[in-house]
Amino acid sequence: MTHKLFECNACGYVIFVPDGARDPDWCPQCRSVMSRVADHDGPAGDDHACDECGYAFRTPQGAQPPYKCASCNRTFPNEPNKRVGHKL
Ligand SMILES: [Zn+2]
Ligand SMILES: [Zn+2]
Repeated sequence: MTHKLFECNACGYVIFVPDGARDPDWCPQCRSVMSRVADHDGPAGDDHACDECGYAFRTPQGAQPPYKCASCNRTFPNEPNKRVGHKL
């Protein structure tokens, strides 16, 4: 599946959005405007989906997890806290 590659104009954060999905409204990290850079074929990475608006996007492997949804105002819960691993 082809993905659209977006890059933040301010902080350079990059996300992939499936072709046909809505463009992101803002950067999931700093809330600046994102620009569509290119198309990308099946990028490896981590999938994220907003459980409030359903917006789904992917971040490149090893990238910082998104702070907010790229489409609504939801703040993502912190990904598994690596310091306090109660459950292993
Ligand atoms: Zn940004
Ligand atoms: Zn959302």
